[in-house]
Amino acid sequence: MQYQPGPYQAAAEVPAPADLAPGGAAPAGALGWFDRVRGLLVRTGLPAEPPVYDVLWRYVRDDDHDLSLAIDRAIAGDGLTISTVMALRETHLGQMSEAQVNQLIAEAQGQAEALGLRIQTGQTDLADYGRAIAVGGAKLAGPIDATGLAALLDQLGSATAAVQAANARLMTELDQAAAESRALADRLTQAERAAVTDALTGVMNRRGIMAALDKAQAEAEATGVPLALTVVDIDHFKRFNDRFGHAMGDDVLCFVARHLADRLGRDGGLVGRLGGEEFVGVMPGVTVQAAAGRIDRVRAELAGQVLRSAVDGSSMGRISFSAGVAEHRASQSGDELIARADSALYTAKRLGRDRVVPDRG
Ligand code: GH3
Ligand code: MG
Ligand code: MG
Repeated sequence: MQYQPGPYQAAAEVPAPADLAPGGAAPAGALGWFDRVRGLLVRTGLPAEPPVYDVLWRYVRDDDHDLSLAIDRAIAGDGLTISTVMALRETHLGQMSEAQVNQLIAEAQGQAEALGLRIQTGQTDLADYGRAIAVGGAKLAGPIDATGLAALLDQLGSATAAVQAANARLMTELDQAAAESRALADRLTQAERAAVTDALTGVMNRRGIMAALDKAQAEAEATGVPLALTVVDIDHFKRFNDRFGHAMGDDVLCFVARHLADRLGRDGGLVGRLGGEEFVGVMPGVTVQAAAGRIDRVRAELAGQVLRSAVDGSSMGRISFSAGVAEHRASQSGDELIARADSALYTAKRLGRDRVVPDRG
């Protein structure tokens, strides 16, 4: 998973379309992934701009399987256009929510301005009323006959009725504005939540868990309390998909995500999906050894269950995961901590899977 810098090599020939399919082992050479992206750029004629590159990069590495499937469908259909790429980027990389948030903020600003105008109108109405009363008062101070008094009272009555009507309008508008503000606030909260939530499993997405990790690291440094992190990867998931289909695979991803979130959550841990069948658990307050013990119990509990299809109850066998665990070190970044847990995970895979390996570095 880690980027291995290598000596600069001249890019190979543009790969044939068959080689551009997502996923699989990292292509040989430091420029392997790049070559696939380049091949796709040439093939689709898309501009080689950072957002496009970002999406294609994730596609060739199959980082987000739903994104890969959507791109496959686009290529097989009308072709991959810039607007499709940007739309996919928004849905799959959480950009949509950012755009939504900005739109909502703009709406809220518009609403505040409109409300300000209504209130100004209300003030004008009141000022008119105030003037009418002042004029009436001045007239009353001088000599006035019955007819004059009747006319004056009539004027004051009309002014009062006008200001009452204006006030009633303003109250209705204020009620409406309050309801709109509440609805906007709800939508903002939803958009903010969507931006950090993995759409498939409901646990945090990469952005969410990285932000949570950042906070947990700052807290660990401030308090001196330990912080452990685990990277979890489902074993032989490709086989499961091949055997039972992607939809069932998606169900298992949700099941494993819930299993992890429930178990680690009990001890104040947080779970996020890094992508594909890979999860991260942030475990505050525990050392690497204690965390390894905890995640190993979660592993054993999962591996001990036979999964059954919700449709017909048929057995789908057992599913296991491997995990690497590492402990936060002062001033190390979230990426560095994940890289250490990831390398312990790699050892767990190499040793035969279905096990937890603590980082010993
Ligand atoms: P290993 O034990 O070495 O981890 O083997 P593996 O098969 O789990 O790992 P590999 O990286 O070879 O394959 C991961 C598979 O996960 C390939 C991909 O099709 C599948 N996958 C990734 N994301 C999703 C998803 O969102 N839904 C489904 N159903 N499958 C996914
Ligand atoms: Mg994996
Ligand atoms: Mg796997």
